[in-house]
Amino acid sequence: MQEASDTRDKGPRPGSPLWLYLAVVTVAGALVIAWAVAGLRSADLRLLAGSPLWWMLALLVVCGELRPIITPGKSVADAAAASITFSFAALIYWGLPAAAVLQAAATLIAGTVMRHAPHRNAFNAAQYTLSLGAAAAVLTAAGVHAGPASPWVPTGPHVAQVAIAAAVFFCCNIALVAVAVALHARASIIRTIRADLPYQVLVNVALLAVAPLVVVVMHTSAALVPLFLVPLIAVYTNAAMSVNRAHQATHDELTGLPNRKFLVLRTGQALTEAAARGRRVGLLLLDLDRFKEVNDTLGHPVGDRLLGVVAHRLVHSVRPGDVVARLGGDEFAVLLPTVRDAAAAREVAARLRAALAEPIRMDAMNLDIEASVGIALHPDHAPDFELLLQRADVAMYLAKERRTGVEAYVADQDRNSPARLSLIGELRRALHEGQLELYFQPKIALADAQPVGMEALVRWRHPVRGLMAPEQFVPLSERSHLTRDLTRYVIDTALGQAASWWRSGLQVQVAVNISGGDLFDPVLADLIAAGLRRHSIPPSALLLEITERVLMSEPAHAAGCVDTLARMGVPLSLDDFGTAYSSLVRLKRLPVSEIKIDSSFIGRMPHSPDDEVIVQSLIDLVRALAIRSVAEGVETAEVAAALRDMGCDAVQGWFVSGPMDAASATAWLTERTGVPRPHEGCSGRTVGEHTRADAAAALPTGTARPAAR
Ligand code: C2E
Ligand code: MG
Ligand code: MG
Repeated sequence: MQEASDTRDKGPRPGSPLWLYLAVVTVAGALVIAWAVAGLRSADLRLLAGSPLWWMLALLVVCGELRPIITPGKSVADAAAASITFSFAALIYWGLPAAAVLQAAATLIAGTVMRHAPHRNAFNAAQYTLSLGAAAAVLTAAGVHAGPASPWVPTGPHVAQVAIAAAVFFCCNIALVAVAVALHARASIIRTIRADLPYQVLVNVALLAVAPLVVVVMHTSAALVPLFLVPLIAVYTNAAMSVNRAHQATHDELTGLPNRKFLVLRTGQALTEAAARGRRVGLLLLDLDRFKEVNDTLGHPVGDRLLGVVAHRLVHSVRPGDVVARLGGDEFAVLLPTVRDAAAAREVAARLRAALAEPIRMDAMNLDIEASVGIALHPDHAPDFELLLQRADVAMYLAKERRTGVEAYVADQDRNSPARLSLIGELRRALHEGQLELYFQPKIALADAQPVGMEALVRWRHPVRGLMAPEQFVPLSERSHLTRDLTRYVIDTALGQAASWWRSGLQVQVAVNISGGDLFDPVLADLIAAGLRRHSIPPSALLLEITERVLMSEPAHAAGCVDTLARMGVPLSLDDFGTAYSSLVRLKRLPVSEIKIDSSFIGRMPHSPDDEVIVQSLIDLVRALAIRSVAEGVETAEVAAALRDMGCDAVQGWFVSGPMDAASATAWLTERTGVPRPHEGCSGRTVGEHTRADAAAALPTGTARPAAR
């Protein structure tokens, strides 16, 4: 186990407790090694220098130092070095001076090759020297006086002495390192040792237990010593493969930063630790402003490189022990395992923003990147990870809204009640546990009663509350950070269903509702493109429904996303039309292929001549723009017939069919595409929960409105 420190570590501040500790250990190590070497006679030195065995061991110790054994979940700081097998063997065989020189020189050489900071190399060399010195004292006390001229080979009865010496070496080594690590991370020493003790005992026992065997082989035949490399190489390879796998599962491929899974784990540890010591944990959520514009104008490869630079800058703006993770897209989280108060967390946030403020040079261009940061603290704002993240998210949105850059969570400004918050947690889990389902509701053409599309409507099969309507949780997802996950689930499932229909000859367009927040998602378009490719269906097999309100209230943001989707050939539909004030000019400019007249007008049509007039003028307007008009919420045959007479293109509503699960929707489609045309009459059978599927087929073909059913 070696001291934890970054390769770019500039060293502790002179005079700090860590600095003093490193200095004391280094000086003590240097004194011990000087004393030990001074005790060597020149004959001893000549003996060692002329011994091929000594040089072979030196090589093995250097190799061991260069390649510490890192296992999954362990950092370089926790890594054990196989060098101790051979330096401990040297201690048993030749005594302290030979072993200490061997190990110290190897540590310095390997440290320099790996470009560790000089203070770190000096400390590591001293740490080993002191540990070997302590073990040597045990052997001397047991009557062992090995030296280059009088090597010692332990036999059966010496097992106890060697074991005690090894135990002392291990304890001394782990304690020296733990103090440095604890001072470095400002953590408790006992906790630092305890956190990793079983693992360290296991690895060190394995490495040190081999040492006496190495000694026996050294004494018998030097040529056989390298054979010890074979099992070591096997251990290395195995460990490296496991580390690789574990790394992939917990890190983001693009930036190499920890991912959400890793962050959840680390936050859990930090919360336990903080609770035990009465400290605070901080979680910062950072979202880049206008990253989408970079992606759109300069392309995704540039966007990806930019994210790499951002990740690099963020990592170098935090203290060791803090965790910078990428949650997805342009969203990063920073975990502060201990933080004094909100002001200290704000300082970190300001540092992160400052690190990004310097323009990023890319392809001979200077890109200005800004970020908004939300802060949530434990225990002040939330008891667990999910809530911390959710509250950091609320704060981050506030920072974006107010354009302040940084905001800490304030309960008064949070429009989420505790009941809503617990539902948010449940929804997050529901998304991962497959509790969400898609229902499908058909739209049929009024001219021939043939299906023109199927709208995917999400449902939550809640284990306690039963089947929940989107109104009960979609707005909730929009206020937390779940819309992206929800929309991704819906798009993916809807595309899968569309592909399955297309494969079986039911070439129906599947509509998906997307939220306003989705228009800010920089990867939405990519996601859709990838989904279409994966399922081998054309863009026209999908239709995105965006409510008029969203499109009109966020014209600038919506425009970019909407244009990208339109360029991809994905048709767009303007949902709940008539409920917002669309500017006609803007309406004409939008690449919209369908407009859905809001059900509130349709529902009032039978009783309100005013609404009938409104609907007529909406239909005329839509037709003038050469866009398909769909009336939603059509519940009766007479309304459907009236709409057809008014020139409306298609209808959707209980009159045709209510939303159906996928199996019923498939049955409906199969039957519908095979049934006779409206004027030929039909059986009027029903499919699905509220289905009056074939009722549409009973629509009279004439201009006269049908009698009430
Ligand atoms: P919407 O897109 O306008 O969907 C139409 C809603 O009207 C659906 O409610 C549908 O079940 C209901 N409806 C259908 N026929 C009739 C009828 O004849 N009469 C009446 N009164 N209502 C009818 P639902 O499924 O509860 O969805 C409500 C809203 O939730 C949707 O309105 C849509 O804005 C949103 N939503 C649904 N699924 C999703 C989704 O996957 N993502 C997002 N972001 N929003 C969704
Ligand atoms: Mg809709
Ligand atoms: Mg609607």
